[in-house]
Parts: sequence; structure tokens; C-alpha cells
Amino acid sequence: MCGIFGIYGHPEAANIAYLGLHGLQHRGQESAGIVTTDIDGEHMVVHRSMGLVQAGFSNADLARLRGSIGVGHVRYSTSGASHIRNAQPFAFDYHGGSVAVAHNGNLTNHEPLRQRLEARGSIFQTNADTEAIVHLLAISKQATLADRVVDALSQVEGAFSVLFMDGRSLIAVRDPRGFRPLCLGILPQAGTDGGSQKRPAYVVSSEPTSFDLIGAERLRDVEPGEMLVIDEGGVASRRPFASRRRRMCLFEYVYFARPDAVLESTSVYEVRKACGRRLYDEHPIDAADVGDVVVVPVPDSGVPAAVGLAAHAGFPFEMGLIRSHYVGRTFIEPQQSIRHFGVRLKLNPNAAALRGKRVIVVDDSIVRGTTSRKLVGMLRTAGAAEVHVRISSPPTRWPCFYGIDTPTRGELIAANHSVEEIRRFLTADSLGYLSLRGLVDSVWECERQANPERVGASREGYCHACFSGEYPVELEHSSQHQLRLVNG
Ligand code: AMP
Repeated sequence: MCGIFGIYGHPEAANIAYLGLHGLQHRGQESAGIVTTDIDGEHMVVHRSMGLVQAGFSNADLARLRGSIGVGHVRYSTSGASHIRNAQPFAFDYHGGSVAVAHNGNLTNHEPLRQRLEARGSIFQTNADTEAIVHLLAISKQATLADRVVDALSQVEGAFSVLFMDGRSLIAVRDPRGFRPLCLGILPQAGTDGGSQKRPAYVVSSEPTSFDLIGAERLRDVEPGEMLVIDEGGVASRRPFASRRRRMCLFEYVYFARPDAVLESTSVYEVRKACGRRLYDEHPIDAADVGDVVVVPVPDSGVPAAVGLAAHAGFPFEMGLIRSHYVGRTFIEPQQSIRHFGVRLKLNPNAAALRGKRVIVVDDSIVRGTTSRKLVGMLRTAGAAEVHVRISSPPTRWPCFYGIDTPTRGELIAANHSVEEIRRFLTADSLGYLSLRGLVDSVWECERQANPERVGASREGYCHACFSGEYPVELEHSSQHQLRLVNG
């Protein structure tokens, strides 16, 4: 769970990267960083700090980040501890020059790779898996940065959307399975340069939400297995890696990406609405008395699915839960007698929309079950006559090894309990999850509609390991997990 942003050929690379990271803030709030350099400059400037983008950069910090090439990163740690040492982008000097790296995803062969590198003398400064890429790049015998990147990334496995830059180029790579998103955009520049119109700058981002903010146009997704080399000559595409079946992460569509993002040329919002429609088809409520039914989303994660479900079922959509946008990360728990305190900081029931109603409350997923249980209690206290929980994805039963932060199986409520047991734990009148088939079909149909010439009949181009336990890539050297591998 991270966001990455890169810019090439703009005199204010740092300011643009700063805005670009704002558009990716939902992908990580733990740390933020930007590295810039001048084209042909000696000088790489680094600034990283813990916390949100807004808090992490002063005007003076941004002014110090001179240069026309930049990469930025927002982090939500999935590999390596939450510490400034692990904040990205990483910048380093080696005998070939200076390079910066920003990575989203998790490497599944990180452990053996690190052991091998340490055995031959590498000294690691962080415990992030990304550092293994840095060492592989530094020891490569290849001459150019692009060839070193190919050399390094050919030795790693797993999920990697990754950006590299030196004083001459910005390089963007998406792993051959395309677990994590990455897209390319163009940013026009006003004015002239030596008599002719200024050349546009190029931007690369985890999600096009950053492009809207800076006035860039989304050109396309970086394809799975594709490497873009952006330099004075423009954008060159290479496909240097062995090809694999695409395994786009379904959880990006379910929860992680922003609803206004377009991934794989497909609107995340439309996918979530489609999931909501199908969810109601799979789990309607007892039709005997539908007079007082209202559909209530859990904001923000459940909103698009609730919009789709309500319109499809013909029920009123009501804001029965109101979200506070001013919640800090740390707070003092008051005495235990104040029930629902933690959830109430963020969400409060709106009795006016709930009193006497049969409430269909919609969220995208249940992880530990603690939020949903508290919400059901709050809805009832506020006067709901019935509470029917609907979840727009299948039960989350397995941890993710490809970059989404999920707890161990012991903490995942659906790993250890049946749907009926979960319903009882939530104290809901009914509980319905979208089936895996329903989720895959919703995504596939939306992708196909957006992209009829490219999306074929196969519905196998997704990673749904967190729901199915079918892992496309083995996690190497870990005795903790017995993975069921699918044909990758
Ligand atoms: P829980 O109380 O653990 O069941 O949390 C469920 C809530 O967490 C839902 O509202 C989801 O939108 C949200 N959620 C799902 N996956 C994640 C994740 N990987 N990190 C943070 N929140 C998540």
C-alpha cells in the first residue's frame, strides 16, 4: 500500500510531485518523500518525512528540491517497519552515478535475495524489500541505467510498480503480472523555448487522481511487464521481462484505489456501483415489507457500492452515518463505559435517516469485524428497526503478500468463522457478501465495456488471493504460510 509519482522535464518538478502525491495520499499516510535532480545535473536533492504530504514539506523544503526530474512516494508500510529510515524514495550514489527509486508492491523473494546479497557483502541500511532492488542495480555489469534496471528486476519476483531516475531519465516499470496499477500522463507547458513551443513534461503515477490536480492528461496505463524510458528523446517502451498472465489486484477496485480513478482504462466508481447492483441480486432482502427500507453507506469506503445497490433495488439512499474528516491518528481512550468510542470519532449515526427504518448498510469489506459490529450497534441505538449488512466483496480470508496491508489469518474474522457466525458476531439481522464470481464478473464486464478490443473472454487476469487463497506467486523462504499456487 503505497503511491508513487514521477515527473520528467518540468522546471518545477518538486512542486508538481508534491501536488501529485496529494492525489495519492489515500494510498499511504505513514511517510512522504520527494527526490529531484536537474537534467544532466550532478545534484540529487532528497526530502522525506513521517506523516502526511501536507505536513511533510515546507515552502523552504520544496524550494530546496531544485530540478526538472523528480520521483515521489507515499508509504503505508507492508514490508519493513514504520520508521523514517524506511521512508522512500531511496536515493543513492554508486560507481555509475546517482539514482533514486520509488516502489509500490511487495517482493515475494525478498528474504532469499537479501540473504544472497548480504553473503556477497552488501550492507543494508533499511529493512524495506525495495533496498534489494537498489543493491541488484548497483552490482549489475550493464552500462546504462535502463539495462541495469532490467538486470535487477529480472531477479525479483512479486509485485512491483517502480520508478527510477538519474540525471538523464525517468524509468517506470510495472511487473509482468501487473498487480499494482501505474499510468502515464502528459503535462503541457505554456510558453516558448528557443522560438518553438515548450515541450510537454511527462508524468507517471499509481493512479490518475494526481493528474487531475496538476492539469495533466492521462495517456494510458503502463502495461504489465512494460518498461517506459522517458528522456530527451521522449517516451520509449520496452518489454524486457518474461511474460506472465496478468494478475491485477481486485482489492484495488474493491477498496484501495480512489473511486474517481481510472485503472486499466476502467472507472473504479463504475466497478463499485456494478458490485453493489450484483450484491443486491445475490442478497436481496425479504420482499414482504420493503416500505421502510433505506440504503446507508459506510462512508467513504461503502459509498459507490451503496449508490449502485440503492438505484438498482429502487430503495432510497440515505446518509445514515456521517463521517468526521478531522480525526487524528492518536487519541486517548476514555473510560471503557463510553461504548463505540473509537468508531464514533470517525462515524456518527444520523437518527433522522434511521429511526424506524429497515436499514441496508453497505461497506466494501470486513477485515477483523470490529468496525461493522460497532456500526450495527450504533445504527440500532439510533432507532433502526432492522440492520442488514451487505459487503461488496467476498469474505477476506487470506493475507496479501503483494502489497496490501492485511492482518494474519488469526485476526481475519472470515478466516475462522462462517458467514452465519459473523452475522451473529455483528448482531445483524442478515449478512450478505458479494460472491467471488460476482466480483470477478463485475470487474471483467466493466473492463470489457471500457476496453472492448483489448479485454478478451478470459476472467483469469486478476489476483484474488485475499478472498480465494489462490496465490499467483510463491512467497519464498517463509515457513509461516502454506500457499495454494495458481498457474501464474
Ligand atoms: P474491520 O473493523 O477490521 O472489519 O475494518 C473494516 C473496515 O476497514 C472497512 O470499512 C474497510 O473499508 C476497511 N479496510 C479494508 N481493508 C483495509 C486495509 N487493508 N487497510 C485499512 N482499512 C481497510
